[in-house]
Amino acid sequence: MGLENEMKPQIKQRAIVNVRGVVQGVGFRPFVYRLATQHHLFGWVRNTSGQVEMEVEGSESEINCFLQELETQSPPMARIEHIRTTLSSLAGYTDFQIKESLAQRNKYQLVSPDIATCADCRSEVFNPADRRFRYPFTNCTNCGPRFTIIEDIPYDRPNTTMREFQMCPRCSAEYNDPLNRRFHAQPNACPDCGPQLKLVDVSGKAMKCADIIRKAAGLLKDGKILAIRGLGGFQLACDATNQETVNLLRARKHRPAKPFAVMAATIEDILIHCRVSGAEAKLLSSPQAPIVLLRWNTKISDIAPAVAPDLKYLGMMLPCTPLHHLLLRETGLPLVMTSGNLSEEPIAKDNDEALVRLNGIADYFLLHNRGIYARYDDSVFMIEGDKPVALRRARGYAPYPIHLPFKSNQILACGAELKNTFCLTRDDHAFISQHIGDMENEETLEHFENTIELYKKLFRIKPEAIACDLHPEYLPSKYAARIAVEINLPLIPVQHHHAHIVSCMVENGVEKPVIGVAFDGVGYGTDGAIWGGEFLVADRYSFRRSGQFEYVPMPGGAAAIKKPYRMALGYLYSLLGADFSLEGLPLAKRNPDEIAVIKQQIRKNINCPLTSSAGRLFDAIAALIGLSDEVSYEAQAAIALEMQAPARFIQARIKTYPYSFEEQNGVTVIKLRELFAAVIDDVRKNVAVSAISLKLHLTLAKITVDICGKITLETGIKQAALSGGVFQNRLLLKLTSAGLNQAGFQVFTHHLVPCNDGGLSLGQAVIANFKKE
Ligand SMILES: [Zn+2]
Ligand SMILES: [Zn+2]
Repeated sequence: MGLENEMKPQIKQRAIVNVRGVVQGVGFRPFVYRLATQHHLFGWVRNTSGQVEMEVEGSESEINCFLQELETQSPPMARIEHIRTTLSSLAGYTDFQIKESLAQRNKYQLVSPDIATCADCRSEVFNPADRRFRYPFTNCTNCGPRFTIIEDIPYDRPNTTMREFQMCPRCSAEYNDPLNRRFHAQPNACPDCGPQLKLVDVSGKAMKCADIIRKAAGLLKDGKILAIRGLGGFQLACDATNQETVNLLRARKHRPAKPFAVMAATIEDILIHCRVSGAEAKLLSSPQAPIVLLRWNTKISDIAPAVAPDLKYLGMMLPCTPLHHLLLRETGLPLVMTSGNLSEEPIAKDNDEALVRLNGIADYFLLHNRGIYARYDDSVFMIEGDKPVALRRARGYAPYPIHLPFKSNQILACGAELKNTFCLTRDDHAFISQHIGDMENEETLEHFENTIELYKKLFRIKPEAIACDLHPEYLPSKYAARIAVEINLPLIPVQHHHAHIVSCMVENGVEKPVIGVAFDGVGYGTDGAIWGGEFLVADRYSFRRSGQFEYVPMPGGAAAIKKPYRMALGYLYSLLGADFSLEGLPLAKRNPDEIAVIKQQIRKNINCPLTSSAGRLFDAIAALIGLSDEVSYEAQAAIALEMQAPARFIQARIKTYPYSFEEQNGVTVIKLRELFAAVIDDVRKNVAVSAISLKLHLTLAKITVDICGKITLETGIKQAALSGGVFQNRLLLKLTSAGLNQAGFQVFTHHLVPCNDGGLSLGQAVIANFKKE
């Protein structure tokens, strides 16, 4: 190629290039500067309020290489959404410059999420000769805090919580050198000028020690529980191999069984405890560094069983800040790393707040003085079919938007009650908030309201309509109703499962109607019943309920969710009649008086809302076969049932349970009497729980394929979207997707946003946008 080029006269060109996406505060301009210089191009680059603009002049072939590498070699934190190039006549530039930024009114820019420590910073932190040796706040344009420290745009130091720290001359020189990795790195800092650690006891008194990290690591090794101020708030840490300490943490945090995440120093350390596929390793060590659910190798792992009681998967992550890298290496242990809160409350973020709220949970507090503006939990993913599947979207992901395949109005969608996120839309962006949490108390509501205000400010969004769940009693729905009145905007309530399906459609770029299979715990239906096992024919505009599981009573409403045996009794009463027998069933061990009371409750219809929920069906079967009587976290019984299924099996050899369906007012109702009778039969015959679990999963997949096939006959639709929290069940997701594929369906599932209620706000926003007045 070199020879040819030398022989031909070079054609010179000028290209005007605009780049949109996360391209500011991520080292993009120095990258352009270096790239242009490499290719002997002249011209300039600058930030504007909405994008990065540049002009490059030089030979045609060099410009083509430049444009290609602009996309393929951009800095790790940059996210290019769109590059527009136009050619123009030569301007006669004689060098390449980084020009002053241009501020434009009413423009907004995307804000980068916080990103895990890059390899360059890591090696500095562990290099005794480097001036940032063991400095826990080391960062550069390729890594470090972003979203958690920004208060407004443009993303400049005075608009971040770093404004309190004056850069020393050496940091300042790095900051101003276009060829330095820290050129315009707003959180740039060093031991001389940046944030500092502080280790205190429960009374807030500083501990005397020569080396804080070493001291903190020593306390962890001694079985103490530490509250650590991380990127987006406090985490509670303890030795994950110490069963006693883990149990103590559970008791203090009022979290009896819900699994904890574990942090390990390196991938090699994770491999001691879990099986890790190539795709899993890639995700773990990505710049987002989320928690990834991994197959736990309990035979060789010495991580305490209390970390994730009765589970076959362990949520593991790698260190995401220099502080975590240093602590992990110093302790040499895997550490439980869980959000710093009492169950149900939002994560604590400020030093004083933590000393009060985490009093009685943590033994010591590892504090620092870099302000956290936005609370930010760890993200959680699993890999299914070699692809990442989001279960909780926060650190490393929010506030990066989901791309919309259309131009949207400005909508605020308030999300669901549990695992809340909200969503704000403008242009082709859906800004889904970081995981906010379960909206069950004032603290979380306040966190929700503050975060909405932050997103509105950062992305210059003024909602034109407010969307919420159809359930009027959800806290976010109440907030939506109040705000809609206050600022006089239309309020658009959206049916829960319609929102789930549209959420899945949007992230897959699907516009035409699909058969939406929405399986989850509870969602308010248009008939006032509690839906959750639904087959909808749906698009962005509307939906029709085409199929459902038959309604059964939930004895005691919320009590039936906490106590799955109540749910089992609801099914038995409803399907088999009032005088069903518990003989030979684990339920027979329960107090007969209590059972009589529950039966009477159902007979008299006292607080027995009707439900078609697939989540409750899992609960009931789990209780029926003796797996779970009471639960302390959402979906615990269903997870217990999933965990029982064998990892390997030959599908063709397994019979499914019988079921039937009937038409009721144009809706196909799935009847479960035969299924329950057959399960009871299996229990009485002492069939292994693992076999029952597997059969049930296969049956639900078969039912789904059958009903979808039936709807196809009526509608001609061959596209199916799977959504709802029940599809966090990997076995069910796998079997259902495979079954539908085999039957000729194109199947859409979630990857970017959670299938659980964390993804609901996206669907709400899109439906509200297309709502006809
Ligand atoms: Zn870095
Ligand atoms: Zn400095």
